[in-house]
Amino acid sequence: MREVDVLIVGGGNAALCAAIEARRAGASVLLLEAAPQDFRGGNSRHTRNVRQMHIGNDNFLVDDYTEEEFYKDLLGVTGGETDETLARLTIRSSEDLGTWMKTAGVRWQPPLRGTLQLSRTNAFFLGGGKALLNAYYRTAEKLGVVCEYDSPVEEIELDGDRIASVYSHGETGEEVRSKAIVVASGGFEANLDWMAEYWGEAAHNFAIRGTPYNLGRPLRCLLDAGARAIGNPKEFHAVAVDARGPQFDGGIVTRLDSVPLGIVVNKFGQRFYDEGEDFWPKRYATWGGLIARQPDQIAYSIVDAKVMDEFIPSLYPPIRADSIREIAGVFGLEPEVLETTVSEFNEAVVEGDFDLTKLDDCGTKDITPPKSHWAQKIETAPFFAYPLRPGITFTYRGVAVDEQARVQAEAGGALTGVFAAGEVMAGSILGRGYLAGFGMTIGAVFGRIAGREAAKHALG
Ligand SMILES: Cc1cc2nc3c(=O)[nH]c(=O)nc-3n(C[C@H](O)[C@H](O)[C@H](O)COP(=O)(O)OP(=O)(O)OC[C@H]3O[C@@H](n4cnc5c(N)ncnc54)[C@H](O)[C@@H]3O)c2cc1C
Repeated sequence: MREVDVLIVGGGNAALCAAIEARRAGASVLLLEAAPQDFRGGNSRHTRNVRQMHIGNDNFLVDDYTEEEFYKDLLGVTGGETDETLARLTIRSSEDLGTWMKTAGVRWQPPLRGTLQLSRTNAFFLGGGKALLNAYYRTAEKLGVVCEYDSPVEEIELDGDRIASVYSHGETGEEVRSKAIVVASGGFEANLDWMAEYWGEAAHNFAIRGTPYNLGRPLRCLLDAGARAIGNPKEFHAVAVDARGPQFDGGIVTRLDSVPLGIVVNKFGQRFYDEGEDFWPKRYATWGGLIARQPDQIAYSIVDAKVMDEFIPSLYPPIRADSIREIAGVFGLEPEVLETTVSEFNEAVVEGDFDLTKLDDCGTKDITPPKSHWAQKIETAPFFAYPLRPGITFTYRGVAVDEQARVQAEAGGALTGVFAAGEVMAGSILGRGYLAGFGMTIGAVFGRIAGREAAKHALG
């Protein structure tokens, strides 16, 4: 049995921010990461950017992104399913993230070109999430944080409402007693059996974009121990990914951004949603859920030659064909139905001034579903198509926290010495929908708070 001031469960962005802050505050810190060292870092290692409030230009962001605009964007995607106090705390605390991350060794790159609308709102890590994580781990270890790998936490025991013991059945395989614990173990998206409780067999057709180690065991322990649950258990953040990708850990490269440039049909060759509803960064995360609700969880994005340079190329080459009929043949769709879908769409297109940088006037009329923007006839051969699956990024089910990141009890009040950060509590702020880069914001903001508060609690 070992004893430590602060025990951190998890090894991604939220966990490392917590570990660094707790250690800087003077606590002894042990971090248990389920994954082997080579795969450390959870979903955070796949990330590229973080959304930040800021006023004025700096080295990695341009113009202003104010608290009010940030909050308005959040309300827009969540439809109001957010906790205003926690949301505003997150937004305000994001202002100094860039500087704080620098102190943890993170470097920044100039705004990425080719992605819509992000240079003002999102700062990009030089080298991506892996470089960010490597910097964090180097900093943490230099400070004296002990990091152990292959160490999945299997049990979290409370004594009444107070943290007692944690059992890790990994490499250490032992009991750890700590004065405070920070649970930063992400969602449960990689646990397909748990997902099947809400989605049935469909869950086994999902691709999980991130780590296979986010199985949700620490979350389950907290909920069983009386933590207050938040977030719809069925909801997740999910994007359209190439159906030819791996089932786990495909990361960013399997995502497909072709949707707003063409049409998307289901296995019956029919369109089912407005492909041009809003700017892609605000809508890309709705497409995973849409495809998850289609028969056999499969869909097909179809575009023509004139738009092929308008989106970031994906990992796999598109299916290339000289006719729509040929595309139908490749995917086993009814050729006549697909041809009819495309010609009806083409007839509904209202010619306008095509402009991807704004909500342009290229819409459709008299067709259901409509395509509100960027609608152009699909008529310039060759045609291209990609098969799509729901690519699950993370789940929304989590535990409720307060402004000190203390896990709330179902019976009222807070659990003692139990803190949470990152995806495991993000559902309080993001009840549904998503804003690109906001997952890392929540993780870093609440990771820092949880680390500080856990150390304060442990050191008395
Ligand atoms: C492909 C992809 C791209 C993304 N891009 C972005 C982006 O650019 N910007 C953005 O803001 N968000 C992005 N996200 C979302 C982002 O990854 C998450 O919001 C964020 O990483 C969550 O951080 P976290 O620390 O809570 O969880 P994670 O980084 O997932 O970390 C969870 C950690 O807990 C560990 N763990 C799990 N169970 C146990 C256990 N039983 N015991 C011990 N450890 C355990 C895991 O191994 C892992 O280390 C992306 C996600 C994916 C999948």
